[in-house]
Amino acid sequence: MDQFKKDIHILVVDDDPGIRETMCEYIQNAGYISHYAASAEEAIELINDNTFQIVITDILLPGMGGLELTDKIKRHKDADVIVMTGYSGDYSYEEAINIGASDFVIKPVRLEELLLRVKRVLKERQLTRERIRMMERLQELAITDGLTKLYNSRSFYSQLELEVDRFNRYRHPLSLLLLDIDHFKDYNDTYGHLEGDKTLVRFSQIIKSCLRANDSAYRYGGEEFTVILPETGGEEARTVAQRIRASLEAEKFKPAPGKEVTITISIGVTQYHPQEELSTFIQRADKAMYLSKENGRNRVSILYVDPPLEAQVQP
Ligand code: GH3
Ligand code: MG
Ligand code: MG
Repeated sequence: MDQFKKDIHILVVDDDPGIRETMCEYIQNAGYISHYAASAEEAIELINDNTFQIVITDILLPGMGGLELTDKIKRHKDADVIVMTGYSGDYSYEEAINIGASDFVIKPVRLEELLLRVKRVLKERQLTRERIRMMERLQELAITDGLTKLYNSRSFYSQLELEVDRFNRYRHPLSLLLLDIDHFKDYNDTYGHLEGDKTLVRFSQIIKSCLRANDSAYRYGGEEFTVILPETGGEEARTVAQRIRASLEAEKFKPAPGKEVTITISIGVTQYHPQEELSTFIQRADKAMYLSKENGRNRVSILYVDPPLEAQVQP
Protein backbone atom coordinates (compact mmCIF):
# COMPACT_ATOMS: atom_id res chain seq x y z
CA MET A 1 0.00 0.00 0.00
CA ASP A 2 1.55 3.31 -1.05
CA GLN A 3 -0.54 5.39 1.32
CA PHE A 4 0.05 5.09 5.07
CA LYS A 5 -2.96 4.30 7.25
CA LYS A 6 -2.51 7.56 9.11
CA ASP A 7 -3.00 9.42 5.83
CA ILE A 8 -6.35 7.77 5.24
CA HIS A 9 -9.28 9.83 6.44
CA ILE A 10 -12.65 8.14 6.86
CA LEU A 11 -15.85 10.04 7.49
CA VAL A 12 -18.78 8.31 9.24
CA VAL A 13 -22.20 9.90 8.66
CA ASP A 14 -24.96 8.71 11.02
CA ASP A 15 -27.57 10.57 13.05
CA ASP A 16 -27.24 8.04 15.90
CA PRO A 17 -24.41 9.31 18.12
CA GLY A 18 -23.83 5.87 19.65
CA ILE A 19 -23.32 4.22 16.26
CA ARG A 20 -21.06 6.90 14.74
CA GLU A 21 -18.89 7.17 17.86
CA THR A 22 -18.43 3.40 18.20
CA MET A 23 -17.54 3.15 14.50
CA CYS A 24 -15.13 6.05 14.66
CA GLU A 25 -13.36 4.59 17.67
CA TYR A 26 -13.05 1.20 15.96
CA ILE A 27 -11.71 2.75 12.76
CA GLN A 28 -9.27 4.91 14.73
CA ASN A 29 -8.04 1.82 16.64
CA ALA A 30 -7.42 0.09 13.32
CA GLY A 31 -4.95 2.89 12.50
CA TYR A 32 -6.96 5.17 10.21
CA ILE A 33 -8.08 8.72 10.95
CA SER A 34 -11.81 8.89 11.57
CA HIS A 35 -14.23 11.82 11.54
CA TYR A 36 -17.97 11.99 11.91
CA ALA A 37 -20.99 14.01 10.86
CA ALA A 38 -24.58 13.79 12.17
CA SER A 39 -26.22 14.66 8.85
CA ALA A 40 -25.58 14.72 5.12
CA GLU A 41 -25.50 18.53 5.22
CA GLU A 42 -22.81 18.49 7.90
CA ALA A 43 -20.93 15.85 5.92
CA ILE A 44 -20.96 18.03 2.78
CA GLU A 45 -19.45 20.93 4.69
CA LEU A 46 -16.67 18.68 5.98
CA ILE A 47 -16.11 17.14 2.54
CA ASN A 48 -15.84 20.56 0.93
CA ASP A 49 -13.06 21.58 3.28
CA ASN A 50 -11.20 18.28 3.75
CA THR A 51 -10.08 15.24 1.80
CA PHE A 52 -11.61 11.89 2.72
CA GLN A 53 -10.72 8.64 1.04
CA ILE A 54 -13.83 6.87 2.31
CA VAL A 55 -17.24 8.08 3.47
CA ILE A 56 -19.42 5.59 5.35
CA THR A 57 -23.00 6.85 5.38
CA ASP A 58 -26.34 5.74 6.71
CA ILE A 59 -29.07 5.85 4.05
CA LEU A 60 -31.82 7.11 6.35
CA LEU A 61 -30.78 10.49 7.65
CA PRO A 62 -32.75 13.55 8.76
CA GLY A 63 -32.82 15.99 5.80
CA MET A 64 -30.80 14.86 2.81
CA GLY A 65 -30.58 11.07 2.55
CA GLY A 66 -27.47 8.94 2.24
CA LEU A 67 -28.08 8.07 -1.42
CA GLU A 68 -28.33 11.72 -2.41
CA LEU A 69 -25.17 12.39 -0.41
CA THR A 70 -23.46 9.53 -2.25
CA ASP A 71 -24.56 10.97 -5.57
CA LYS A 72 -23.15 14.40 -4.69
CA ILE A 73 -19.85 12.93 -3.50
CA LYS A 74 -19.42 10.81 -6.62
CA ARG A 75 -20.12 13.79 -8.87
CA HIS A 76 -17.67 16.15 -7.25
CA LYS A 77 -15.11 14.26 -5.16
CA ASP A 78 -12.67 11.40 -5.39
CA ALA A 79 -13.94 9.51 -2.34
CA ASP A 80 -15.33 6.00 -2.07
CA VAL A 81 -18.67 5.61 -0.34
CA ILE A 82 -19.90 2.68 1.70
CA VAL A 83 -23.63 2.92 2.47
CA MET A 84 -25.40 1.41 5.48
CA THR A 85 -29.07 0.74 5.97
CA GLY A 86 -31.22 -0.46 8.86
CA TYR A 87 -32.89 -3.34 7.05
CA SER A 88 -32.35 -4.88 3.70
CA GLY A 89 -35.89 -4.30 2.39
CA ASP A 90 -36.01 -0.54 1.89
CA TYR A 91 -33.08 0.11 -0.41
CA SER A 92 -31.45 -2.27 -2.77
CA TYR A 93 -27.80 -3.01 -3.13
CA GLU A 94 -28.23 -2.29 -6.82
CA GLU A 95 -29.58 1.20 -6.21
CA ALA A 96 -26.61 2.13 -4.02
CA ILE A 97 -24.06 0.69 -6.44
CA ASN A 98 -25.71 2.34 -9.46
CA ILE A 99 -25.40 5.71 -7.80
CA GLY A 100 -21.69 5.06 -7.35
CA ALA A 101 -21.33 3.49 -3.89
CA SER A 102 -18.39 1.11 -3.59
CA ASP A 103 -20.06 -1.15 -1.05
CA PHE A 104 -23.21 -1.69 1.00
CA VAL A 105 -23.63 -2.99 4.57
CA ILE A 106 -26.71 -3.94 6.56
CA LYS A 107 -27.23 -2.63 10.08
CA PRO A 108 -26.52 -3.64 12.76
CA VAL A 109 -23.07 -3.51 11.29
CA ARG A 110 -20.48 -5.91 12.60
CA LEU A 111 -17.42 -3.73 13.07
CA GLU A 112 -15.03 -6.47 11.95
CA GLU A 113 -16.99 -6.80 8.72
CA LEU A 114 -17.02 -3.04 8.16
CA LEU A 115 -13.25 -2.93 8.57
CA LEU A 116 -12.82 -5.71 6.01
CA ARG A 117 -14.95 -3.75 3.55
CA VAL A 118 -12.93 -0.61 4.23
CA LYS A 119 -9.72 -2.52 3.51
CA ARG A 120 -11.12 -3.97 0.31
CA VAL A 121 -12.23 -0.54 -0.91
CA LEU A 122 -8.78 0.89 -0.13
CA LYS A 123 -7.12 -1.96 -2.01
CA GLU A 124 -9.31 -1.24 -5.04
CA ARG A 125 -8.49 2.46 -4.84
CA GLN A 126 -4.81 1.60 -4.89
CA LEU A 127 -5.21 -0.72 -7.87
CA THR A 128 -7.19 1.93 -9.74
CA ARG A 129 -4.49 4.51 -9.07
CA GLU A 130 -1.81 2.11 -10.30
CA ARG A 131 -3.83 1.34 -13.41
CA ILE A 132 -4.26 5.04 -14.19
CA ARG A 133 -0.56 5.67 -13.63
CA MET A 134 0.31 2.79 -15.95
CA MET A 135 -2.07 4.02 -18.65
CA GLU A 136 -0.56 7.50 -18.46
CA ARG A 137 2.92 6.03 -18.71
CA LEU A 138 1.93 3.91 -21.72
CA GLN A 139 0.35 6.91 -23.41
CA GLU A 140 3.50 8.90 -22.79
CA LEU A 141 5.69 6.08 -24.18
CA ALA A 142 3.51 5.84 -27.28
CA ILE A 143 4.18 9.45 -28.24
CA THR A 144 7.77 9.85 -27.02
CA ASP A 145 11.07 8.96 -28.61
CA GLY A 146 12.97 6.73 -26.19
CA LEU A 147 16.43 8.23 -26.75
CA THR A 148 15.83 11.95 -26.98
CA LYS A 149 12.54 12.18 -25.03
CA LEU A 150 11.22 14.42 -27.78
CA TYR A 151 7.87 13.48 -29.32
CA ASN A 152 8.15 10.73 -31.94
CA SER A 153 7.24 10.83 -35.61
CA ARG A 154 3.79 9.31 -35.00
CA SER A 155 2.85 12.22 -32.78
CA PHE A 156 4.37 14.59 -35.33
CA TYR A 157 1.84 13.55 -37.95
CA SER A 158 -1.11 13.69 -35.57
CA GLN A 159 -0.10 17.07 -34.16
CA LEU A 160 0.51 18.53 -37.62
CA GLU A 161 -2.94 17.36 -38.66
CA LEU A 162 -4.44 19.14 -35.64
CA GLU A 163 -2.53 22.30 -36.41
CA VAL A 164 -3.64 22.26 -40.04
CA ASP A 165 -7.26 21.87 -38.87
CA ARG A 166 -6.73 24.83 -36.59
CA PHE A 167 -5.24 26.78 -39.49
CA ASN A 168 -8.30 26.07 -41.61
CA ARG A 169 -10.54 27.41 -38.85
CA TYR A 170 -8.61 30.50 -37.75
CA ARG A 171 -6.18 31.16 -40.60
CA HIS A 172 -3.35 31.97 -38.25
CA PRO A 173 0.03 31.28 -39.84
CA LEU A 174 1.66 27.91 -39.27
CA SER A 175 5.27 27.01 -40.00
CA LEU A 176 7.39 23.91 -40.03
CA LEU A 177 11.12 23.28 -39.62
CA LEU A 178 12.90 20.17 -40.82
CA LEU A 179 16.38 19.69 -39.36
CA ASP A 180 19.07 17.21 -40.38
CA ILE A 181 22.45 16.91 -38.67
CA ASP A 182 25.39 17.41 -41.04
CA HIS A 183 27.81 14.56 -41.74
CA PHE A 184 26.47 12.57 -38.85
CA LYS A 185 27.58 9.30 -40.37
CA ASP A 186 31.18 10.52 -40.16
CA TYR A 187 30.69 11.47 -36.53
CA ASN A 188 29.39 7.99 -35.73
CA ASP A 189 32.15 6.32 -37.73
CA THR A 190 34.83 8.39 -35.98
CA TYR A 191 33.59 8.42 -32.37
CA GLY A 192 31.17 5.51 -32.18
CA HIS A 193 27.42 5.14 -32.06
CA LEU A 194 27.19 5.84 -28.32
CA GLU A 195 28.84 9.22 -28.70
CA GLY A 196 26.49 9.83 -31.61
CA ASP A 197 23.53 9.05 -29.36
CA LYS A 198 24.76 11.51 -26.72
CA THR A 199 24.90 14.16 -29.39
CA LEU A 200 21.31 13.48 -30.41
CA VAL A 201 20.21 13.82 -26.79
CA ARG A 202 22.10 17.08 -26.30
CA PHE A 203 20.86 18.49 -29.57
CA SER A 204 17.28 17.71 -28.56
CA GLN A 205 17.79 19.75 -25.40
CA ILE A 206 19.17 22.60 -27.48
CA ILE A 207 16.14 22.56 -29.75
CA LYS A 208 13.79 22.67 -26.76
CA SER A 209 15.69 25.56 -25.20
CA CYS A 210 15.12 27.59 -28.38
CA LEU A 211 11.34 27.05 -28.53
CA ARG A 212 8.34 28.81 -27.02
CA ALA A 213 5.54 27.16 -25.06
CA ASN A 214 3.29 26.45 -28.07
CA ASP A 215 6.05 25.11 -30.31
CA SER A 216 6.79 21.38 -30.33
CA ALA A 217 9.82 19.36 -31.40
CA TYR A 218 9.88 15.81 -32.78
CA ARG A 219 12.46 13.22 -33.66
CA TYR A 220 11.38 12.56 -37.22
CA GLY A 221 13.86 9.83 -38.01
CA GLY A 222 17.46 8.86 -37.09
CA GLU A 223 19.21 12.25 -37.09
CA GLU A 224 16.31 14.21 -38.50
CA PHE A 225 14.02 16.40 -36.46
CA THR A 226 10.95 18.53 -37.05
CA VAL A 227 9.53 21.53 -35.23
CA ILE A 228 5.93 22.71 -35.53
CA LEU A 229 5.51 26.43 -34.97
CA PRO A 230 1.85 27.44 -34.61
CA GLU A 231 0.92 31.11 -34.91
CA THR A 232 4.22 31.69 -36.69
CA GLY A 233 4.89 33.03 -40.17
CA GLY A 234 7.82 31.93 -42.33
CA GLU A 235 10.14 34.81 -41.47
CA GLU A 236 9.62 34.38 -37.75
CA ALA A 237 10.14 30.64 -38.15
CA ARG A 238 13.40 31.34 -39.96
CA THR A 239 14.57 33.35 -36.93
CA VAL A 240 13.78 30.40 -34.64
CA ALA A 241 15.67 28.09 -37.01
CA GLN A 242 18.67 30.41 -37.01
CA ARG A 243 18.65 30.43 -33.23
CA ILE A 244 18.72 26.60 -33.15
CA ARG A 245 21.43 26.44 -35.81
CA ALA A 246 23.62 28.98 -33.99
CA SER A 247 23.10 27.35 -30.58
CA LEU A 248 24.22 23.97 -31.92
CA GLU A 249 27.21 25.50 -33.65
CA ALA A 250 28.23 27.19 -30.38
CA GLU A 251 28.13 23.91 -28.46
CA LYS A 252 31.39 22.05 -27.85
CA PHE A 253 31.11 18.26 -27.91
CA LYS A 254 33.81 16.13 -26.30
CA PRO A 255 33.45 12.71 -27.93
CA ALA A 256 36.98 11.58 -26.96
CA PRO A 257 39.60 12.62 -24.37
CA GLY A 258 41.18 15.92 -25.35
CA LYS A 259 38.90 16.23 -28.35
CA GLU A 260 36.53 19.14 -28.81
CA VAL A 261 34.28 19.19 -31.86
CA THR A 262 31.42 21.21 -33.19
CA ILE A 263 28.42 19.78 -34.97
CA THR A 264 26.28 21.61 -37.47
CA ILE A 265 22.80 21.24 -38.81
CA SER A 266 20.96 22.04 -42.02
CA ILE A 267 17.45 23.38 -41.62
CA GLY A 268 14.53 23.79 -44.00
CA VAL A 269 11.74 26.25 -43.18
CA THR A 270 8.35 26.65 -44.77
CA GLN A 271 4.93 28.07 -44.03
CA TYR A 272 1.64 26.25 -44.52
CA HIS A 273 -0.23 27.19 -47.66
CA PRO A 274 -4.07 27.09 -47.53
CA GLN A 275 -5.69 23.85 -48.74
CA GLU A 276 -2.45 22.02 -49.40
CA GLU A 277 -1.95 18.39 -48.41
CA LEU A 278 0.08 17.61 -45.30
CA SER A 279 2.54 15.66 -47.43
CA THR A 280 3.07 18.66 -49.74
CA PHE A 281 3.78 20.85 -46.74
CA ILE A 282 6.29 18.38 -45.30
CA GLN A 283 7.94 17.78 -48.68
CA ARG A 284 8.50 21.51 -49.11
CA ALA A 285 10.22 21.70 -45.71
CA ASP A 286 12.34 18.72 -46.82
CA LYS A 287 13.23 20.45 -50.10
CA ALA A 288 14.24 23.57 -48.19
CA MET A 289 16.44 21.43 -45.96
CA TYR A 290 18.11 19.90 -49.04
CA LEU A 291 18.78 23.41 -50.35
CA SER A 292 20.70 24.03 -47.14
CA LYS A 293 22.71 20.85 -47.73
CA GLU A 294 23.41 21.72 -51.35
CA ASN A 295 24.52 25.22 -50.46
CA GLY A 296 27.16 24.06 -48.04
CA ARG A 297 25.29 22.83 -44.90
CA ASN A 298 25.13 24.61 -41.51
CA ARG A 299 22.47 26.95 -42.81
CA VAL A 300 18.77 27.74 -42.88
CA SER A 301 16.75 27.85 -46.11
CA ILE A 302 13.18 28.91 -46.57
CA LEU A 303 10.89 27.92 -49.42
CA TYR A 304 7.76 29.86 -50.32
CA VAL A 305 4.79 28.56 -52.27
CA ASP A 306 3.72 31.86 -53.80
CA PRO A 307 4.77 32.16 -57.43
CA PRO A 308 7.46 32.64 -58.42
CA LEU A 309 8.82 29.86 -56.25
CA GLU A 310 11.58 31.59 -54.39
CA ALA A 311 14.35 30.06 -52.39
CA GLN A 312 16.30 32.10 -49.92
CA VAL A 313 19.44 30.71 -48.49
CA GLN A 314 21.07 32.26 -45.49
CA PRO A 315 24.43 31.37 -43.99
P1 GH3 B 1 24.32 14.75 -44.39
O1 GH3 B 1 25.11 15.92 -43.98
O2 GH3 B 1 24.16 14.66 -45.86
O3 GH3 B 1 23.00 14.70 -43.68
O4 GH3 B 1 25.16 13.49 -43.96
P2 GH3 B 1 24.83 12.42 -42.87
O5 GH3 B 1 26.03 11.56 -42.68
O6 GH3 B 1 24.28 13.07 -41.66
O7 GH3 B 1 23.61 11.65 -43.56
P3 GH3 B 1 23.31 10.14 -43.80
O8 GH3 B 1 21.86 10.09 -44.11
O9 GH3 B 1 24.27 9.57 -44.80
O10 GH3 B 1 23.60 9.43 -42.44
C1 GH3 B 1 22.81 9.58 -41.34
C2 GH3 B 1 23.55 8.97 -40.19
O11 GH3 B 1 22.84 9.14 -38.97
C3 GH3 B 1 23.73 7.50 -40.36
C4 GH3 B 1 23.49 6.91 -39.01
O12 GH3 B 1 24.64 6.28 -38.54
C5 GH3 B 1 23.20 8.10 -38.13
N1 GH3 B 1 22.11 7.80 -37.22
C6 GH3 B 1 20.79 7.67 -37.49
N2 GH3 B 1 20.11 7.37 -36.37
C7 GH3 B 1 20.99 7.30 -35.37
C8 GH3 B 1 20.90 7.01 -33.97
O13 GH3 B 1 19.83 6.76 -33.42
N3 GH3 B 1 22.03 7.05 -33.23
C9 GH3 B 1 23.24 7.35 -33.81
N4 GH3 B 1 24.30 7.38 -33.02
N5 GH3 B 1 23.36 7.58 -35.11
C10 GH3 B 1 22.27 7.58 -35.89
MG1 MG C 1 19.33 12.32 -42.71
MG1 MG D 1 22.38 14.10 -41.83
